[in-house]
Amino acid sequence: MKIGVIGAGVAGCCAALQVVRSGASCLLVEKNGLPGGTLSMGGVALPGLFHAWGGRQVIAGIGWELVQEAVALAGGKLPDFTKFEMNHHWLTQVPVNPVLFSALCDQKFQAMGVDVRYHTMLGKVEPRQPGWELTLCGKDGLYSETVDFLIDCTGDANAVKMASYPIVEPEVCQPGTYSVHCTGYSLETVDWDALRTAFEAAEQRGEIQPGDVGWAKGFAKLFVNRYGENANHIPFVNRPSKGRDSYTRIEVDARASLLRVYRFLKRQPGFEDLDIRFVGMECGVRESRVIVGETEVTEKDFLSGKVYPDAVCYGFYPVDLHDMEQGLIKRYPAEGVVPTVPRGALIPRGSRSLLAAGRILASDRMANSGLRIQATCMATGQAAGALAALCVKTGATPQELPQPLLREELLRNGAILPPEV
Ligand SMILES: Cc1cc2nc3c(=O)[nH]c(=O)nc-3n(C[C@H](O)[C@H](O)[C@H](O)COP(=O)(O)OP(=O)(O)OC[C@H]3O[C@@H](n4cnc5c(N)ncnc54)[C@H](O)[C@@H]3O)c2cc1C
Repeated sequence: MKIGVIGAGVAGCCAALQVVRSGASCLLVEKNGLPGGTLSMGGVALPGLFHAWGGRQVIAGIGWELVQEAVALAGGKLPDFTKFEMNHHWLTQVPVNPVLFSALCDQKFQAMGVDVRYHTMLGKVEPRQPGWELTLCGKDGLYSETVDFLIDCTGDANAVKMASYPIVEPEVCQPGTYSVHCTGYSLETVDWDALRTAFEAAEQRGEIQPGDVGWAKGFAKLFVNRYGENANHIPFVNRPSKGRDSYTRIEVDARASLLRVYRFLKRQPGFEDLDIRFVGMECGVRESRVIVGETEVTEKDFLSGKVYPDAVCYGFYPVDLHDMEQGLIKRYPAEGVVPTVPRGALIPRGSRSLLAAGRILASDRMANSGLRIQATCMATGQAAGALAALCVKTGATPQELPQPLLREELLRNGAILPPEV
């Protein structure tokens, strides 16, 4: 019995490893040359949140094993999770070395016999009895593979869309971010007033655009302070134009934006030696599409910490929507509240051998802005992997499979589950 996982971001890595741990074979398809997705290619190597109020761990399992291993390998230290404060939640996210994280994933794929295909793009998904025929595009062109079950971890619901199940695409998505690392200046000698004056003049001349340095009202302070890491906003994800697909557009726009900032800063006193290095190879995408699931997590359910009868994991974070007009919209669950994720949010409505995991799970925009973080993507990936494997083993559909069987399998593999209700 073979299960196809499309996309080796954090959700896909955990899904693939769980599939093989649960005794099925796994074909893992990834368009890039390394695993990690946004964590590696997007330069966002700060997975969280595994711990909630008072330092209580709410997500463990495969993702947590990988993160702990990457930190230990680098000789690093885990944050003190008991110091958790909701409005400083990033302090209890766990910085990891993205190269080590990717290499560890690869090592595990090889050890566990995951059939990985890098530099391979999903081209077509056609139903077969049972399962799916996939058309893949590798370096030498198109070829087919058949799988009994499919898990979409593409971050964009590509497989779900190709299988003709509905998806939701917001009219305007949150901006992406293209992270770099800058060197060659000292924060101690920056003349912030002079920088602001020069910035405003450059903005008036059209040399700098809103979003180039984070929020529209910024004057490069955020960008300079963060040395360029996670410090710009690239709009128009999901807005194809002039015949270019939106992913081409966001990459081109991202590099044009960096070029504007680089040229501007390089002219400022104190920045003559400015240098700029890659952190991520791709523009990081916060939001593109979600599936229409059997259950949709709403902001109300998310913030109130509704415990679903078919919950497969927790998903702890504030609502965190980057809106180019309104700024950062943040809303916190009340103290002690930890949101959960239902199995139904991973099942494209009406499908029988298809699941989705990671940031594309069925949720409204506000709930999604809190559920898209890496620890939750890892937990949903692991849950989808276990569910798919149990479905092929028992012949049940994802809707029918008895919840105790799924819970048992996840607990056996180190996951933390919300209480049964
Ligand atoms: C700027 C930014 C800052 C963030 N900050 C944080 C943070 O500090 N902490 C945190 O925990 N989270 C953060 N997030 C959110 C988090 O990083 C992502 O939401 C999460 O990593 C998504 O994981 P995923 O596995 O669902 O998708 P992705 O990471 O997008 O992985 C999808 C994978 O599928 C592959 N793929 C896509 N389409 C195809 C196809 N058709 N065929 C084959 N392969 C395909 C991609 O190459 C990729 O490897 C941030 C996100 C951004 C953009």
